[in-house]
Amino acid sequence: MSRTTVATIHLGALRHNLARIKAMAAPAQVMAVVKADAYGHGLERVARALDGAADAFAVAAQGDGLRLRAAGHRQRIVVLSGPDRASDIAEMQRLQLDAAIHHESQLAWLDGASSSRGPLRVWLKVDTGMHRLGFPPERAAEIHARLASMPGIDPEVGLLTHFSESEEFEGEETRAQIRRFNEAVKNLAGPRALSNSAGVLGWPDARGDWVRTGGLLYGLSVVPGKSGADFGFRPAMTLTTRLIAVNRIRRGERVGYNGTWTCPEDMPVGVAAVGYGDGYPRSAASGTPVLVGDRRVPLVGRVSMDLITLDLREAPQAKVGDRVTLWGAELPVEHIAAQAGTISYDLTCGMTRRVLFVEDDG
Ligand SMILES: *Cc1c(COP(=O)(O)O)cnc(C)c1O
Repeated sequence: MSRTTVATIHLGALRHNLARIKAMAAPAQVMAVVKADAYGHGLERVARALDGAADAFAVAAQGDGLRLRAAGHRQRIVVLSGPDRASDIAEMQRLQLDAAIHHESQLAWLDGASSSRGPLRVWLKVDTGMHRLGFPPERAAEIHARLASMPGIDPEVGLLTHFSESEEFEGEETRAQIRRFNEAVKNLAGPRALSNSAGVLGWPDARGDWVRTGGLLYGLSVVPGKSGADFGFRPAMTLTTRLIAVNRIRRGERVGYNGTWTCPEDMPVGVAAVGYGDGYPRSAASGTPVLVGDRRVPLVGRVSMDLITLDLREAPQAKVGDRVTLWGAELPVEHIAAQAGTISYDLTCGMTRRVLFVEDDG
């Protein structure tokens, strides 16, 4: 029998979300962040849906840039971690990929770059407090000048920074990061790009010339207690499966591995064909909501590799073959992620190869 777990990707939702980001971020241009296989939605699929609408794509690594060029996309593509070794530079020039430059070692590789393949477009990354990638703010001017004078490099050097907690709309840290960035780049030419999705939602001062949005494109929010829908975005993924058994289990019997859940009465327990082998989080606790048809029921017991068990007392008509929805428009993935102690991005990125992906225009 073919696998019943299906991730449906809603192309109309992707287009709606991008249009909404553009409206919110205007006049800034939008880099559609499609790293990690477009947050698990499928790189080529998402790029095809957004082709012509996104001002640029952003990817984590050069290999994704190659995939986008191979699929025929002509837009700007920004590689957010830049070259990983000297030989990447020629390849980035050949593929006309923009490179984020965040480390001394990359400057040395760029010094040796040839201009014969056409100039490489670069973005200087300034570390304003995340302390992951980037140069310290006090070095921004010096490195900007160095980059702009290199022969293999386009003299228009972009300026980047990345927020560590922009989903905390009242937080002091983002305000401080914006201040440090503006101070570091105040006398430098070139387009500015500060905001991720939460920056677009909560930090209008940080719009800059470009925004780099991932989560919101897919209708996902990382703002505590809020789903993308709360901000007018539509989830781009619905994860469904089928009910493959309905059993009556007696009061006092325990369900699933290690018997972590005990039936409080004689009751129907449903079994749905999805588990952590598909990417449904093993850490989802008893009580995590699942839809059987349009009835909301709680997951009970441990999530296993291929199966989950459901308390069907609130869905007494449920029968084998019924559709089961793990997340989607009617059940925000943000809520499931919260139950599993993680964020929505982690869940959509975690779909495994045995999940069947289908597309619709909705
Ligand atoms: C992933 C990433 C983004 C996008 O973040 P979202 O929260 O998904 O919008 C933006 N910039 C950089 C540097 C990133 O790594």
